[in-house]
Amino acid sequence: MATVIDPHMANESIFKEIILNEICPAGEPWMCELKQGHYLRIIDLKGNQAVDTLLVTQHDPAERYSATDTLALNQAVYLEKGSVLYSNFGRSIAVIHDDTCGRHDTLGGACSCESNTVRYAHNTYPMHSCRNNFMHALALHPVARKFQLNVRHIGPNINFFMNVPVTPQGHLMFDDGISAPGKYVELYAEVDLIVLISNCPQLNNPCNAYNPTPIQLLVHTGVRSES
Ligand SMILES: [Zn+2]
Repeated sequence: MATVIDPHMANESIFKEIILNEICPAGEPWMCELKQGHYLRIIDLKGNQAVDTLLVTQHDPAERYSATDTLALNQAVYLEKGSVLYSNFGRSIAVIHDDTCGRHDTLGGACSCESNTVRYAHNTYPMHSCRNNFMHALALHPVARKFQLNVRHIGPNINFFMNVPVTPQGHLMFDDGISAPGKYVELYAEVDLIVLISNCPQLNNPCNAYNPTPIQLLVHTGVRSES
């Protein structure tokens, strides 16, 4: 259950049934099972928080979210409302059902000790990273143990709320965020999924506005007014 009071948290009364409602603290990993037909709403409580996300299918952990299949089949370089998320087997596994941010990245990858060293400086190597979060959750989280996941299941990721524009010259920029407090993105699961999130701890680029903050994760069965 939620442990902090925040004005940007979702109004719980709008949902038909809430399966799970949690806060992931700044910089921490988070993991859950998401059943087919359920929704996952990710709320950027303080704004400008990058949420690095992996999706793995429950029926076969070798099948997972694929950035290349998703970009090719959507014919778009950014993710937004209506984007279909495809697996490495070319199957649609989820849809971005709702989105109040407007743009999400899947080109920039997840930060790691190694990428920090290459992009910034050698002394950033020991800094907390998304890859560390993924490895930590895969080693210890009960959902990872249930599905016998390990570091081999770290694949391409989505960076929800992260602004990585492609320049006219074809370069990627890690730019100031376009999200704001209370903005959210919502996935609809088309198959049974495992969701692994790193609430990015990065301090060397503006993806978190140099200030990692908590997010709210809410799994539900639909919004009342939609029925
Ligand atoms: Zn990160």
